[in-house]
Amino acid sequence: MAEIISTEDVHLYYGKKEALHGISMNFHENEITALIGPSGCGKSTYLRCINRMNDLLEDVTITGSFTFENQDIYAPNVDVVDLRKKVGMVFQQPNPFPFSVYDNVAYGLRLGKKQPKDFIDQRVEESLKQAAVWDEVKDDLHKSALAFSGGQQQRICIARVLAVHPKVILMDEPTSALDPISSSKIEDTLLKLKNDYSIIIVTHNMQQASRISDRTALLLNGDLIEYNRTEEMFLRPKEKITDDYLNGRFG
Ligand code: ADP
Repeated sequence: MAEIISTEDVHLYYGKKEALHGISMNFHENEITALIGPSGCGKSTYLRCINRMNDLLEDVTITGSFTFENQDIYAPNVDVVDLRKKVGMVFQQPNPFPFSVYDNVAYGLRLGKKQPKDFIDQRVEESLKQAAVWDEVKDDLHKSALAFSGGQQQRICIARVLAVHPKVILMDEPTSALDPISSSKIEDTLLKLKNDYSIIIVTHNMQQASRISDRTALLLNGDLIEYNRTEEMFLRPKEKITDDYLNGRFG
């Protein structure tokens, strides 16, 4: 598959503390890539660089190169709102706005130029279907998104990201706050979504990485230890430290 995002020699400092020590990774179209590693190893930090979420923090220095479809993500002329539509993000805690399901999913569509209602209706329905939550919310589209379960809220948040037709979806432990049945629904959804999108998912759950991802990267203390096709990495890790981590000997 073609590369959609490339990062080269990424260093990130929170103040003087270096949290990422030169990470180079490429991500491929229509694949799920999992970032795994113990808590605090830099997975979220790295993920948030990709759609410039760390720009929102003070005293953060980022060096290295990041490209999305061969364009520099950090070029001064990049419209960050537009970038975050193309490279959308789903967070650990479902974070619907305190609006109706419909208004949540329509939110990004209303940010730009005014769109006809038919168009928005259609996009809302299509996105909720893609996020596999349509059947559960279709009769309550005007009810508050907050009235739904955590798993349903997370799929509504996925629909909100899908509505603006991203190319890449970044997911930061999207199932860790959910029960096993909801998590499994999200995993099934992601496996379908990869036909149309590229997904980069942070997970502390190695079983989840092995079930759904095409490639897996292991980070430790801000370094990329190993990055390979998931099957290869789980069956034949190249580094001893990967083997130790995958077999629960630390972390
Ligand atoms: P992970 O996602 O793997 O759990 P993080 O990317 O959240 O790891 O954190 C990597 C390191 O950066 C940790 O040492 C963490 O304490 C530190 N860190 C994360 N966010 C901030 C922040 N906003 N300010 C300062 N340090 C941070």
